[in-house]
Parts: sequence; C-alpha cells; structure tokens
Amino acid sequence: MTTAQHTAEELERLAVQAGRDLEEASALDVLRWAAGTFGRRFCVTSSMEDAVVAHLASRALPGVDVVFLDTGYHFPETIGTRDAVAAVMDVNVITLTPRQTVAEQDAEYGPRLHDRDPDRCCALRKVAPLEEGLRGYDAWATGLRRDESPTRANTPVVSWDARRRKVKIAPIARWTQDDVESYVAEHGVLTNPLLMDGYASIGCAPCTRRVLEGEDARAGRWAGLGKTECGIHQ
Ligand code: SF4
Repeated sequence: MTTAQHTAEELERLAVQAGRDLEEASALDVLRWAAGTFGRRFCVTSSMEDAVVAHLASRALPGVDVVFLDTGYHFPETIGTRDAVAAVMDVNVITLTPRQTVAEQDAEYGPRLHDRDPDRCCALRKVAPLEEGLRGYDAWATGLRRDESPTRANTPVVSWDARRRKVKIAPIARWTQDDVESYVAEHGVLTNPLLMDGYASIGCAPCTRRVLEGEDARAGRWAGLGKTECGIHQ
C-alpha cells in the first residue's frame, strides 16, 4: 500500500479531525482508517500481553509492523508470545532493544536500577528506544484501554502525540476486559500465558506482580514504588 508522506502540520490536523470523527467508531474501522491514511508508515506497538490490537491491525493492513520493546527484563513467557505472534500471524514483528544491555547498564548505574530509580530505568530501556524506533512512522497504535486504571480513564481513540509529532491511536480505548476476552475467544488470538497465572498487566519481570482480588489491572505494575506508567504514554 502506497500513501503520501505527511508533514507534521498535516498529521496534527488529521489527528484532531479523526479524534472527533472516530471516537465512536469500531476498533477495526479506526484501524482501517489508519491503514488507508498512513499505509506502511503506520505501526502497532505491543507489550505481548496479548495480540488483540496486532490481530485487528493485521485485518486492516496485512503484514503490519508490530513493534516490541525488548527491555532485557521480560518474562520468558513474554518473549515466547512475541515469537509465536511472529510465527503464526500476518504481521512483521520488529524488536527494539535499548542502547545498553542490562549488564552494561548495571556497570554504569549499579545493579537493580529498577528498584532505586525506575523512572531512569524506564527512560533508558523503554522510552528512548521507542522514540528511536518510531522515527520512520507517521502514526502508531497502542492497546491502551480506559478501564485499565484511573490514569488511563481519559485515553482518546485518536490524538496528536505532540512529543513525537505523530498520530497516536488507541483503537480499543473504549473496550472493557470482557470485550478483550470475547475477541480473543472468537478469533483464537494469542495471549501471554501469564494471564492465566494471576497477572493482569504484564511488563518487565522485576516490576510486575500478580494482582489481588479487587485490584485494577495495572495494580501489579511497580507496586509500592508510587509509579503507574513507564513514561511512554505521558
Ligand atoms: Fe526498568 Fe522496571 Fe521500567 Fe522495565 S519496567 S524498564 S525493569 S524500571
């Protein structure tokens, strides 16, 4: 699919207009709009908690780029989910890595930076590589949902990502956990096996624990550290 490259001003206009027009659209229609507007300059980012948005995007744009951040701290099950997605789905998985390995980071900053300064650790291992990896795209989609936590309750379906100067798309922003589970069951979508083991939101192993009865989905992320987001979505 060939589409014209847009200037940053055009992208911002598109984001604002689509933010109004697509608020009530289905997730698939939002992704069809993205595919038709941006073509190969559109990608999906995935934490490999599940492959729902990647699956939806592959229906709109077969062979779509699916960007995965390999921080060096993932659970083996997450890496296995990434490999399974690459093997069986009609997507092009792109793995981004930080500038430093964990050993190199430990040598420069000391071990277990995630316990002492998780914001710095996320900046080095998540935010910076994603900034770099998204450079070639005009638009990116995420799996953010409003029901995941109070901090995500106002997530727009389409918005202008002023920091990266790209269109940011959250096609399942209005979905509930039940919607996700229905889609997974209906389409046989790959999910991370840790979801069956008490984890509701899956990030790096040192910063993720199982959730307790009544907790919101992201309560197991950076528990006890007063941190709710890695910085990618702020
Ligand atoms: Fe580091 Fe934890 Fe952030 Fe992963 S989630 S990059 S281990 S602070």
